[in-house]
Amino acid sequence: MSCCEECRCDRGIDFTKIPVTELYGSNCFSNAVMRERLPRNIYREIVAVQNGEKELSLEVADVVAASMREWAIAKGASHFTHLFQPLTGLTAEKHDSFIAPTGDGRILMEFSGKELIKGEPDASSFPSGGLRATFEARGYTAWDVTSPAFLKTDPTGTTLCIPTAFISYYGQALDKKVPLLKSIDALSKQALRVLRALGNETSKRVLTTVGPEQEYFLVDKEYYDKRPDLMLTGRTVFGVLPAKGQEMEDHYFGAIKERVAAFMRELNVELWKAGIPAKTQHNEVAPNQFEIAPIYLNSSASVDSNQLVMETIRSVARRHGMEGLLHEKPFAGVNGSGKHNNWSMATDDGINLFDPGENPESNARFLLFAAAVVEAVDRYALLIRSSVATSANDHRLGANEAPPAIVSIFFGGPLTEIFDNIVEGKSAGKSSAGGQIKLGVTSLPNLPKDVSDRNRTSPFAFTGNKFEFRMVGSSQSIATPNTYLNVAVAQVLSEFADKLESLPKGGEVSGRNEAVQAIIKESYGRHCKVVFNGNGYTDEWVREAERRGLPNVKNAVDALSVRIRGETSSLFETHKVLTKEEMESRYHIYLEKYSRQINIEAGVSIELARRYIFPASSSYAGALAGEAAALAAIGANNVPQAKRAKKISDILAELYDETAKLEAVLAEAQDIEDAPAQAKAYFEKVRPLMDSVRVKVDSLEKLVAKDFWPLPGYEELLFKL
Ligand code: ADP
Ligand code: MG
Repeated sequence: MSCCEECRCDRGIDFTKIPVTELYGSNCFSNAVMRERLPRNIYREIVAVQNGEKELSLEVADVVAASMREWAIAKGASHFTHLFQPLTGLTAEKHDSFIAPTGDGRILMEFSGKELIKGEPDASSFPSGGLRATFEARGYTAWDVTSPAFLKTDPTGTTLCIPTAFISYYGQALDKKVPLLKSIDALSKQALRVLRALGNETSKRVLTTVGPEQEYFLVDKEYYDKRPDLMLTGRTVFGVLPAKGQEMEDHYFGAIKERVAAFMRELNVELWKAGIPAKTQHNEVAPNQFEIAPIYLNSSASVDSNQLVMETIRSVARRHGMEGLLHEKPFAGVNGSGKHNNWSMATDDGINLFDPGENPESNARFLLFAAAVVEAVDRYALLIRSSVATSANDHRLGANEAPPAIVSIFFGGPLTEIFDNIVEGKSAGKSSAGGQIKLGVTSLPNLPKDVSDRNRTSPFAFTGNKFEFRMVGSSQSIATPNTYLNVAVAQVLSEFADKLESLPKGGEVSGRNEAVQAIIKESYGRHCKVVFNGNGYTDEWVREAERRGLPNVKNAVDALSVRIRGETSSLFETHKVLTKEEMESRYHIYLEKYSRQINIEAGVSIELARRYIFPASSSYAGALAGEAAALAAIGANNVPQAKRAKKISDILAELYDETAKLEAVLAEAQDIEDAPAQAKAYFEKVRPLMDSVRVKVDSLEKLVAKDFWPLPGYEELLFKL
C-alpha cells in the first residue's frame, strides 16, 4: 500500500478504495505485527513484559527496535519520536531522524534498543511543580510496552511514534502515564487477592479496560479565523444564540451533513490506520456537535489513543476547511462537550468482573466487585471530582448541564433492588423467595443491558457490564480520571481482601459465601447513599444530595484541594502510585494552569471588548445618530434611530466601566504569588467580572446591525457547515 515506488509514503492514496480489514492497523506496530515479524522467543518475552511478568532486557529491546525500524522505514518513516504526556494535558513529542552518518558522506538508518526504551528530552520547560530544580533539567522517557507504537504522517513526513512514560532524573513522575501504569498494577494486585479468596486460581492479572466517547464541535474555518477568542482560548467569550438553539433536539442522531460525513470518513480512516478501533459516530445534542467512540482497549492504550483521536479530529477537520473544537464549553446556551469514560475490570483470561453473568459464582463475584465500586465512589467522591477539575469543565459541572457536580452512581431499579435486599437480609435474587440470602445459589434476574439509556443524567452510571464516568471534560486526558478511579477501587478491594483472607484456609464454601454476603451488606449499607437512580439535573436532587451528605463541589479550585489532604497522600503512597511530593506538585501545576487559562480568557475579553466591540458598536450608534440628525432636519423628531443610538451608547458606557474593572482585578490577580490564593482570585473576582463584561457585549450584539458587528455570530458558528 503506497503511492509510488520511490517515496513509499501513503499520501495521495484513496483509502476509501481499500478494504477496511486491510487498512486497519496498517500504521500500527501491534502485537499482531510483532508476532509476525519478531522471532518467536522475542515475541514471547515482549508479551511477558506487557503482562508485567518480566523486565525488559536491552537484548530484547535491540531486536524489537531493529524490527520496528525496518517496518517503519518500509512505510516511509524518516523520524521517530517518544510521545509523552507532560502535565500540560497535551501530548509532547520530539522528533529524531533515524539517520546516522557513516563518515564518508553517506548515512545509515539506525534505531537501537536503547533509543527505543529510553529518551532524554530536555524536561526544563515542562511543568514539574517544583519537583525538579532547573539545574537538573534532565527527564527520561521510557517505552510503555502496553501501548503500541504507530506511524503518523503529516507535512513533515512520516514519524514512528513510541508511547512512553516521562520521569525525572530522580525517578519522580513528570507525566500522567507513570501514575496510571502504577494504578493499574495496584488495582490488579488487590483485585487478584479478592479473586483468589473467591476461589479463582487461574487469572494472573487484572486489567482495566476503557472506551472513551469523545464529543467535539466542528466550525467552518472561515468563521473560526475571525474569532480571536476561539483561536486563543478554545471558546467564545461572547456571543448570543440566534432564535434557534438546541431546543428542537433535531441535531441529535440526525442525518449527518455531507461535509461532516466526508470528514468523519477520513477521521475513521486515519484512526483505523493507527490501529484505533473507531466504531460509532453521530451527531450530538447541540448544533454542530458530534461524537466518536472507539471500541475499548486496555486503559494505557486507550489513554494514548484518545490523545491521538483528539489530535486527529483537529488535523482532519482542517483538511476539510473546518476547525475541531475540543473545549468543554465553546458556546454559551447549548450543551458543552464531555468524554464518557467507559471503565471496566477484566482478568487476563477474559473475565469481565462487572459482567453480572448467568451462574451463581459469577453473581457473587459481580456483586462484590460492584459493591467495591459503590464504596469507592462514595468514599472518594472528592478525589473523583478532583480528577476532572479544570476551569473549562467548571462550565459544565454544576452549571445547569450534564452532569451535575455531585458524584453519584446510577444502578437502575433491578440492581438497586438486589443490593437493597442483601442489606435488608432478604433474598439477593428476585427468583428465589424470601428467607436467608445465599449468594452462591441464587441467580440474578436478567439485567437489561441498556439501563443507561434510561438515565443520561448520572455522572457515574452502571451500563450493563461497565461503569460510565461522565464527568470527564472533552479536552482532558483520561489518564488522571482513570488513575484516581483505579486507586480508589484498589483501596476498597484491599480492605475486602483483608476480610476474606482472614477466613480459615480451606474452609467451607458456605462460610465464604456468608463472608461475601456480610461484606456486601456492610459496605453497601454504609455507602448506598451515593446510589441515585433519578434525574440528576433537578434542584430536588441537589437538595436531596445535601441531605444525604454528598459533596457538591462546583468549582475546580475547591475540587483540586483534596489532593493536599493527608488522607489523599497516604492513599496514593499506600498503593505506590504517587508520593506526597508528586501529588502536591500536581496540585500546584493544576492550580497554575487554572489561573493561566482564566488569565488568557480575561485578557481576550478585554481586548475584544475594547478593540472590536466598542469601536464597532460606537460606529453603529454614530451612524444611527447621524441618521436621526438628518431626519430631524426634515422635521422627523424623536425617531427610533435616536432611541436606539442612545440605548447603545448607554450600554457602551457600562461596558467601558466593566472592562476597566475587569482590567483592575485582573492586574491584582496577576500579582498574587501564592498559587492557591491566586487561583481563588481568578475564580472569585476575575470570572464574575468577565461575566458582567459578557452581559454588556451580548446585549450590544442584539442591538448592533449585523453589518457592523465585527465577529461572526453563533448562527454562523453553530449552524453553517
Ligand atoms: P452505551 O450505549 O451503553 O454507551 P456502547 O456499547 O455504545 O455502550 O459503548 C460505549 C463505549 O463503551 C464504547 O467505547 C465501548 O467500546 C465501551 N465499552 C464496552 N464494553 C466495555 C468494557 N467492558 N470496558 C470498557 N469499555 C467498554
Ligand atoms: Mg454511552
